[in-house]
Amino acid sequence: MRFLNSKLKIENTILQNIAKKYGTPAYCYSYKQLRENINDFKKNFKSISPLICFAIKSNTNLNLIKEIKKFGLGADVVSMGELMLALKAGISPKKIVFSGVGKTSKEINFAIDKNILLINSESKSEIIEIDKIAKIKKKQVNIGIRLNPNTDPKTLSQISTGKKDNKFGVNDKTFFELVRYCKNSKNINLKCLSVHIGSQILDHKPYEKMLRILDKIIKKTQYKFDFIDLGGGMGIPYNNDKKLNYKKYHSAIKKFLKNKKSQIIFEPGRSIIGNTGVLISKVIYIKESYKKNFVILDAAMNDLMRPALYGAVHRILPLLKRGKKSKKIYEFVGPICESTDKFTSIKNFQELKEKDFIAICDVGAYGISLSSNYNLRPKPIEILINGSKIRVVKKRQKHHEII
Ligand SMILES: *Cc1c(COP(=O)(O)O)cnc(C)c1O
Repeated sequence: MRFLNSKLKIENTILQNIAKKYGTPAYCYSYKQLRENINDFKKNFKSISPLICFAIKSNTNLNLIKEIKKFGLGADVVSMGELMLALKAGISPKKIVFSGVGKTSKEINFAIDKNILLINSESKSEIIEIDKIAKIKKKQVNIGIRLNPNTDPKTLSQISTGKKDNKFGVNDKTFFELVRYCKNSKNINLKCLSVHIGSQILDHKPYEKMLRILDKIIKKTQYKFDFIDLGGGMGIPYNNDKKLNYKKYHSAIKKFLKNKKSQIIFEPGRSIIGNTGVLISKVIYIKESYKKNFVILDAAMNDLMRPALYGAVHRILPLLKRGKKSKKIYEFVGPICESTDKFTSIKNFQELKEKDFIAICDVGAYGISLSSNYNLRPKPIEILINGSKIRVVKKRQKHHEII
């Protein structure tokens, strides 16, 4: 994404033209950025030949997942719906892992019938349930156990998952007990140790610490895991921060693997899709206030929930650049009846007029997948841009579909 002659473009496509033709709010994704992210990820971890399972929950657009599948990626799913979507996109069941803290017996039945690679389980009760269902089906089911390594990922507290207070995974004591349980079960094959300590992790050190803990636990169990699933969580720069250093993470994993034959599984979501998308929106009104002006957009928290949900900050850019700066702070808000329906406040933004267009950046991950129909607002259109080729990958919802 860049400005050319003051016009914001994705590849060869001027976003202002998209806004006028397809209306707003609209999610626009860059195919080239997606390809670059996947190739970059693969290149950095090439020496350990990992299985890369895209975390479907970060973006649930079927057509985008079909594109991701073409690069050979598998899928990490967290519900029956996501599993069905991954299969519909043509992803091989042998590249699908099913994560999550509470799978229902219906979901477990479905996953077993589809012969997916792994069900990653996070509690004794769920493993007993899997065992029971597998026995009825007279099948052997491959599972992983998710460990809670009690490692602080140094990210937003709302998206931290690997500390002992978090609901995710099992502690070391339960882990050892469950390894014994699986060894004694005829219907469960314990294949994997999994972890996922959080999301938007920018510092490689929490990962290094996590690997040291895994190493100790594996030594203690003396169990040979075919797979070590390290989860996702690799962070991207939203503002001025630096993205996670893949090279350092890679060398820590190489060191960790020295005395092991396990294959690594990754479950990246954000790092694959996050920076591929923008949400374009129109300024409906500008409302003057004491210290700041409210820029009221036609996009709202139902379209992009991260700011309201986690206090996440996304950059905002105008689609047409003009020289003159606003003297007042702009607070970008949506029309929804909630005070948390605001995106961000910006000082020294260019002076905006009503009917101008803006882009909210880096919304490819946890954008459309977290969207809702709150206030009975239809979900936005989604568009994939490849050079000057424009493809609608999901139509805008119509009112009659939600009423
Ligand atoms: C959410 C999630 C991921 C993906 O996280 P990102 O930060 O998007 O990479 C991977 N694995 C599990 C188990 C998850 O819950």
